[in-house]
Amino acid sequence: MNAAFDPHQKVTAEHLKRNAYLYVRQSTPQQVFYNVESTQRQYALKQRAVAEGWPLERVVVLDGDLGQSATSAVDREGFQKLVTEVSLGRAGIVLGLEVSRLARNCSDWHRLLEICALTGTLILDEDGLYNPVDFNDRLLLGLKGTMSEAELHLIRARLQGGIRNKARRGELRMPLPVGLAYDAQNKVILNPDRQVQQAFCLFFTHYDRLGSALGVVRYFAEHHLHFPRRLRGGPNRGQLVWGSLIHTQALQILRNPRYAGAFVFGRTKVCRRAHGQPGHVLQPQDQWHTLLLNAHPGYITWEQYQDHQRTLRTCARAHGQDRRHGPPGQGPALLQGLVVCGVCGRRMTLRYHERHGKLMVDYLCQHESTEHGQAVCQHIPGTSIDRAMGELLLETMQPVTLELAFAVQAELQTRLEEVDRLRRQQIERAQYEADLARSRFMQVDPKNRLVADALEADWNDKLRRMTEAQEQYEQQRQKDHAVLDDASRQQVLALAQDLPRLWRDSATSDQDRKRMVRLLIEDVTLTKAEQLKVQVRFKGGATRTLDLPVPLSAWRERKTSREIVALIDDLLNTCCEQEIAAELNRRGCQSGTHGAFTRKRVLHICRHYGLQRRYDRLRAAGLLTGAELAAQLHVSTQTIAQWRRNGLLVAHPFSAKNECLYEPVGANAPCKQQGCKLADRPHVSQVATDRTNEVHHEA
Ligand SMILES: [Zn+2]
Repeated sequence: MNAAFDPHQKVTAEHLKRNAYLYVRQSTPQQVFYNVESTQRQYALKQRAVAEGWPLERVVVLDGDLGQSATSAVDREGFQKLVTEVSLGRAGIVLGLEVSRLARNCSDWHRLLEICALTGTLILDEDGLYNPVDFNDRLLLGLKGTMSEAELHLIRARLQGGIRNKARRGELRMPLPVGLAYDAQNKVILNPDRQVQQAFCLFFTHYDRLGSALGVVRYFAEHHLHFPRRLRGGPNRGQLVWGSLIHTQALQILRNPRYAGAFVFGRTKVCRRAHGQPGHVLQPQDQWHTLLLNAHPGYITWEQYQDHQRTLRTCARAHGQDRRHGPPGQGPALLQGLVVCGVCGRRMTLRYHERHGKLMVDYLCQHESTEHGQAVCQHIPGTSIDRAMGELLLETMQPVTLELAFAVQAELQTRLEEVDRLRRQQIERAQYEADLARSRFMQVDPKNRLVADALEADWNDKLRRMTEAQEQYEQQRQKDHAVLDDASRQQVLALAQDLPRLWRDSATSDQDRKRMVRLLIEDVTLTKAEQLKVQVRFKGGATRTLDLPVPLSAWRERKTSREIVALIDDLLNTCCEQEIAAELNRRGCQSGTHGAFTRKRVLHICRHYGLQRRYDRLRAAGLLTGAELAAQLHVSTQTIAQWRRNGLLVAHPFSAKNECLYEPVGANAPCKQQGCKLADRPHVSQVATDRTNEVHHEA
């Protein structure tokens, strides 16, 4: 072949001067393993390069990307090397399988072809040889790419359509979570392995009881219970293994609607992460493609499932980023670090201020205000809450309540037998596996040393595991029974009796009180509406809701109650302010500031509430001052005072200084009588007056 004389000749001496690059790739390790044919085809391209004129030693094979996905060039070293070589003009030809197809729908390849066009590099795949500089070839590559893209799209649409239709009918066979299995008729059933079933039943009953995934995980760990898990990858993919229950698995189980007997499709969506790797995002329930309730048997009901989702959401809120509480501090705020806002779910902070020489606490939710400059979400005076919490704790820790708790505990003890059965099954399984290993060992020809040795080792291993399981079983059994002996019960009861004293003891520090609270309480959610709702979550999952009156703000708290103001108003008709103060104190009334009443305070209240003064009331009722009466009777004020002292006039005091106002006198007005002793004259009580002693306030 002479390149100079053939216009259709694509390979020129120029190309042959440079290297040939063969790019070999398989997406997954499985493809590498099973799709040997394809790999061989890829290597066979090498011969084509040699046929085109490249010496064998100048054909560079780039197969560093075997087992790497083609979705992105990020992790593919081989491909990157190829691009580098081409762009540096060192490649005369690039060889690869189905390059023409990849040219369109794979952006990396598309860019590579453009670089090939710039550097005059040829392309070769099984279909033929292309020169990207040549218009016809470029057109051909483009067409082939577009067609294959369309083809791919149609195939995908058809496949997806089929899948979606099947899913809509609930007939799509999908990988099942570990507690479920397909039977021979392709129907979903509970996993026929009884141990698996019981593990799941235990899991869900304990979640219902504890309301916390971590709680269930702890329970399984404490009781050394194994939980089944399905291997997701590797050579033993799909196999069931037993191990300890982990938190992520517990969450996955709780979120999986299939355990509630529902068929679900489209619960996750594929998304591309920032670094180019694909990922899965859980979709909200209303965006699931298909949801068929009661499609197959499950471990829980759909209502239970919904309940669990709600619990999970609130837990997530209660344990989010800003929800981690610190250690108890010095201040008296009992609930420091335990308060959660009932409006937005954030952890509330606290603020102290002084009132009457005592530190008072306010709980506030100010995350939005500090982070985004918005209004404070909730601001609640905390003193009454702290008081109520103290009482609640003492009430909870009363011996009677504890007796009840012990009774419940005893009930739970019987349930331990359930756990015990599961544990026994663990041993049975180990025993079975040991027996199996033994019979395998027995069946092998003892002369076949290699196999026999391996089987013997296996048998020993299984026996060891069985002994371990047995020992663990015994230990746990003893532990279960050691939980409640009488001595420890008495100890706990004694402690409970001691608690109120300890709690109220002024020598007990605020910090210690807070530590006690933390031993019992998980968190407290506060919501302020017409009433103050205090939702308490105890350790272990019990809850209590308290409704408290909304605490009054400082000025409101100092306000004298409406009843007392009315009482003062009433008393003003008959007594002076000094007497009223004495009367109120005698009746045990309390002023807004919790002090005793004084004349000054009563006067202040009168002024504040606009109550008519005693003096004004008497004047309004027509009573006269001493001077007025003196003028009327043509005597001196001293005479009036003297007559009053001797009971000749009716007077009503209006001040503490014995100042008074006089009732007007009618026809029986006393007059000056020389020579008659004042004491011998008739008193007012004896003379008929047309007035009553009572002066009623006319409002
Ligand atoms: Zn809030």
